[in-house]
Amino acid sequence: MEQLSSKIYKKEFVEAFAGDDSGTLTPRQTPGVFYSKAKPTPVEKVTLLAWSEELAKELGIARPTEQQDVDILGGNRVTDSMYPYAACYAGHQFGNWAGQLGDGRAITLGEWEAPDGKTWELQLKGAGLTPYSRRADGRAVLRSSVREYLMSEAMHYLGIPTTRALSLVSTGEPVLRDMFYNGNAAYEPGAIVMRVAPSFLRFGNFEMLNARKEVDNLRQLVDWTISRYYPHITGENKVIDWFKEVVDRTARLMVEWMRVGFVHGVMNTDNMSILGLTIDYGPYSFVDNYDPNFTPNTTDLPGRRYAFGKQPSIGYWNLGALAGALLPLADKDQLVATLETFKDVYWTEYYAMMGRKLGLDQVSQLDRDLISQFEKTLADIQPDMTIFYQLLIDLPLSVENEDEVAEHFQKALYDDLTPEQKTALYTLISHYLERLNTNKIKRSASQDMMRKANPRFVLRNYLLHQAIEGLEKGDDALLVKLQEAIKEPYSNKFDEFFQTRPGWASEKAGCSMLSCSS
Ligand code: AMP
Ligand code: MG
Repeated sequence: MEQLSSKIYKKEFVEAFAGDDSGTLTPRQTPGVFYSKAKPTPVEKVTLLAWSEELAKELGIARPTEQQDVDILGGNRVTDSMYPYAACYAGHQFGNWAGQLGDGRAITLGEWEAPDGKTWELQLKGAGLTPYSRRADGRAVLRSSVREYLMSEAMHYLGIPTTRALSLVSTGEPVLRDMFYNGNAAYEPGAIVMRVAPSFLRFGNFEMLNARKEVDNLRQLVDWTISRYYPHITGENKVIDWFKEVVDRTARLMVEWMRVGFVHGVMNTDNMSILGLTIDYGPYSFVDNYDPNFTPNTTDLPGRRYAFGKQPSIGYWNLGALAGALLPLADKDQLVATLETFKDVYWTEYYAMMGRKLGLDQVSQLDRDLISQFEKTLADIQPDMTIFYQLLIDLPLSVENEDEVAEHFQKALYDDLTPEQKTALYTLISHYLERLNTNKIKRSASQDMMRKANPRFVLRNYLLHQAIEGLEKGDDALLVKLQEAIKEPYSNKFDEFFQTRPGWASEKAGCSMLSCSS
């Protein structure tokens, strides 16, 4: 285990690429460079609120006990081997080209080489102004930092590709936020997350270089990304082969989000990882009631571009934007043809995933119809997605009548069923039981498969809301408990949380919908 303050950090990204070394933080366009030096702005007092013990072990990072190590987590200390920088990227926001964006409040300190030889970017989120802060303050509030810290770790334990979070610290400084964008700004406690990933490169890094017609820079970034993160890809056709893999990873990520009911909320191209990771946790949510039209982001109304059910098609749209950025480096027809493989990959993986959720030995064409029937009936009845699938695991193998079925799923329901809904649910379950009868695997094997595909604990927004309220009053009991619960999402160990979203949380800000203000 090594201390944060005595580690010799690597800086291969800054050594490989041109950057703006001036260190000035004045907001500006930075053509010709990939990043700008940006030292974190020190805060009042860095206090450790949460630490990801297992991640730290994996990376070989000693838990900070001295203030000089804690200070690194809050940007109050930068060591000699670090080179703090903010990356320059662009993006499409809500479908529109937004030009240069960049890390407005994220600062990479350096690259940490773990005992297994892998390197991880250590990045502070909320560490102060950078040249890309535009008119914002470069800070983050406790509310949004707790959300990023817990949820990125929760996604990891769900088995979903994601950036990770090593620590959460408070800054001792207030941060002004207009949470509802209605002119009622208020001070909130400030915080900083240290997040880690092999790379935080986004689609937007590539879009930026293409938009600026910096073709040599674009080629350099693509070559570097391939050799460093996709080293098995070589040869003549490597740009297309690599793009194909980004398409595959993104399609698989969308399948995973659909599996657990995760709604990202801001799928702008600057929030799409080139490694296929879930990145940038903002106004995300799990669906509680199964509603394909649900968006957790108030800024996403009324269009609902980033609604639960639209995520796969937005993933595809975003890959289209990436393909556009790669045009100077590859044949257009090949790029388009590769992009078009998204649908095949997505649907193949999607049905396989649904087969596991339903405990099927294989997924035939007829099974695809059954899966559609599940989707339609769930969208109509809108039971709690997580609880519904848990109850499905323990479904009796024969059911007598509609009432018995409705009773079985009672715990998952938010509303009383209409007579039509009761019939639809009974019909669905009857079809499903007929299908289970033809399974060539044992019932217990089918149920095991379902237990691995269907989480029993998901980090619901209202739980986060309660944990944040507690923390703001200095009580970290729920935060500590949730930190444990996220590690065992497929077990029944934390069944105290196996409940539908409570009534009070349906309309409360932060519990169902959130703004981008963070
Ligand atoms: P997001 O929607 O969080 O992905 O942010 C979009 C862009 O706004 C990115 O370039 C962020 O770095 C920037 N940004 C968001 N919040 C802040 C902030 N408080 N200070 C500076 N830049 C910010
Ligand atoms: Mg972002």
